[in-house]
Amino acid sequence: MKISQKLIEDTIFEIASKEGVLAYKILKDKENVNEFTIAEKLKLTINQIRNIIYKFEQYNLINSTRKKDRKKGWYIYFFTLNKKQIEDTVLQLKQNKINILKKQFDREDSNNFYTCPNKCMRLTIENAMEHQFMCAECGTLLEPEDKDKNVAKIKKIVKDLEEELEKIKA
Ligand SMILES: [Zn+2]
Repeated sequence: MKISQKLIEDTIFEIASKEGVLAYKILKDKENVNEFTIAEKLKLTINQIRNIIYKFEQYNLINSTRKKDRKKGWYIYFFTLNKKQIEDTVLQLKQNKINILKKQFDREDSNNFYTCPNKCMRLTIENAMEHQFMCAECGTLLEPEDKDKNVAKIKKIVKDLEEELEKIKA
């Protein structure tokens, strides 16, 4: 697999936003990183760090161990990234996007849509007929959408994503 850092960071961004990417960069070449170290480096609170880690955990991207601080009596967590799972997640999220777009493609392809020129609403031709092709919000005549253009646009995005995925897997 050829997964670039950029692609990994984009995926981390989708999962845990900008702070997640920053935390990832601190964790990426280390093991058992103390949560206080991450908090200090990012100038965030422990709760904010745990919030980021929680998002990573949703995708199994991170493993944790904890130790009791004998003096203070609380637990300190240590984190290690699960690199294999990160790579799998990059592929998985890309595949999910393709699947969603394919469903969207089918929906667009099997319906004719009408929209209000003022962008109030978008209706299938059946629903537009029920409204006599008038916008229920502003009363303007609804216009037929250029279906071929919409469908072609989605098709192109799917094709690009599939090519990208193939390249990564190659
Ligand atoms: Zn309208």
